[in-house]
Amino acid sequence: MSKYGKEIMIGAVPVLIAFLLFIGVNIIPVLFMTVILGTFLFMTRARNGMSVGSDHKSRSRAPSYLTFDEIGGQDRAKRELQEALDFLIRYEDIQRLGIRPLKGILLTGPPGTGKTLMAKAAAHYTNSIFMAASGSEFVEMYVGVGASRIRDLFKAARAQAVKENKNSAIVFIDEIDVIGGKRDGGQHREYDQTLNQLLTEMDGIHTTETPRVLIMAATNRKEMLDPALLRPGRFDRHIEVDLPDKKGRVHILNIHAKNKPLAPEANLESIAQETFHFSGAQLESVMNEAAIYAMRDESENIQQRHLSLAVDKVMLGEKTDRESTKEERERVALHELGHAIAAELVRPGSVSQVSLSPRGKALGFVRHNPQQDQYLYTKEQIEHQIMIALGGAVAEEMFYGGRSTGSRNDFEQALNMVRTMMDSGLTKLGIIDRDMVTKEELMKENASILEELTQATRSMLEQHREVFEQSLGILIHEEVLSGEQFRQLLEQSRTVTI
Ligand code: ATP
Repeated sequence: MSKYGKEIMIGAVPVLIAFLLFIGVNIIPVLFMTVILGTFLFMTRARNGMSVGSDHKSRSRAPSYLTFDEIGGQDRAKRELQEALDFLIRYEDIQRLGIRPLKGILLTGPPGTGKTLMAKAAAHYTNSIFMAASGSEFVEMYVGVGASRIRDLFKAARAQAVKENKNSAIVFIDEIDVIGGKRDGGQHREYDQTLNQLLTEMDGIHTTETPRVLIMAATNRKEMLDPALLRPGRFDRHIEVDLPDKKGRVHILNIHAKNKPLAPEANLESIAQETFHFSGAQLESVMNEAAIYAMRDESENIQQRHLSLAVDKVMLGEKTDRESTKEERERVALHELGHAIAAELVRPGSVSQVSLSPRGKALGFVRHNPQQDQYLYTKEQIEHQIMIALGGAVAEEMFYGGRSTGSRNDFEQALNMVRTMMDSGLTKLGIIDRDMVTKEELMKENASILEELTQATRSMLEQHREVFEQSLGILIHEEVLSGEQFRQLLEQSRTVTI
């Protein structure tokens, strides 16, 4: 009956309308009500289930072909994840020993480090269905919709696994913090219901059931998550997927160079050295942009200079052809020279290029020679770093008697570094907890550090006024000053001073 319900309705309704008209009943109010009811039912269905179903169908990637070998760096994270996944593979041993099944794995780390790749590789490793969704997909104005979407996601994952004859399914929820944030008791009922539904689904996972379901989630704000999500039996495996170190960066660059013609002299090691703090996604972008530069040059292959240009582009943005006045260019040139001279004096040999071509939001920039990856800084090193940041503003003061808005970013950097010094007990305040000191004390110390370092930078730069004057002409004319050229000018000035 239900199978042909639609057809019977389609046949019966016109007959009913004809009959009512025949006996003289006014059917306009009835038709009006029917249209309103139909629209309401249609919208509710679309919101509740249908959109979710179709969305997840398009997201299901079953099976995933991505392997752990295609993820660069992250050796520790990969090892930890594989160990955790072995629980899913060795389910007979798990049952025999009465081990509680692993239900949730939380991947934490900055954006673009390969968390989604890890989840996909996990699906391949365990021969599971891969079903992905993002936390923001579950956020709706209507109470209950998010929860029903969670239910549908798990239902779809199980159904897909059965359809494809798989024993397990991995459900991956990116940006879990959107729905899994700490519950605050009532204000966000919709979020609470969605999170409760997720917890219910997790609690419903048993070792004996097939297909087995494993939930993987990713976030870069673990501290925001509700403790109920993190307790044993829920997301109790936490794996950190961090920014890659140099070895990891070489690996990632090599992975993304596989399908690209590299010139024999191209050196990915040196690019890895220059890209400290880049994520995997940024490194992928470097390789891609380098290939685009090669194409623009009509070059057969990707050369080292294409790679260097690509690093600048990913770091600072595309070159812009913003027209600027002569005075503005001069001011920018002196500002950048201020950074460069300060850098060279506190860290000899560190400047690789001073450039006056605008990129992204920057009107000029100083490129520094690659340093070793560094995770620990002494007080002196941070102070030097602050002096380099202040060098631009100090130079403007020296030549124009005042600063411009061009130092905004530099000050942000300097303030961040002062904060790091305070939190590390490297200031006169000693070892502090921010709650123990007043705002005034913090402000006073902050001002005193910055004032002292500004003075030190000024007296350092004042001794090399002629380097500014000599370099300015070249920079305005050529737009770039190489590290070598710049060091020569500085060396001459030093000899004269002595
Ligand atoms: P988000 O937190 O923003 O969702 P994510 O950590 O999930 O980011 P992915 O989506 O896995 O990052 O990575 C984005 C892209 O960056 C990948 O498609 C890949 O091209 C590249 N990538 C990131 N990390 C790596 C890596 N470790 N090895 C190889 N490629 C990587």
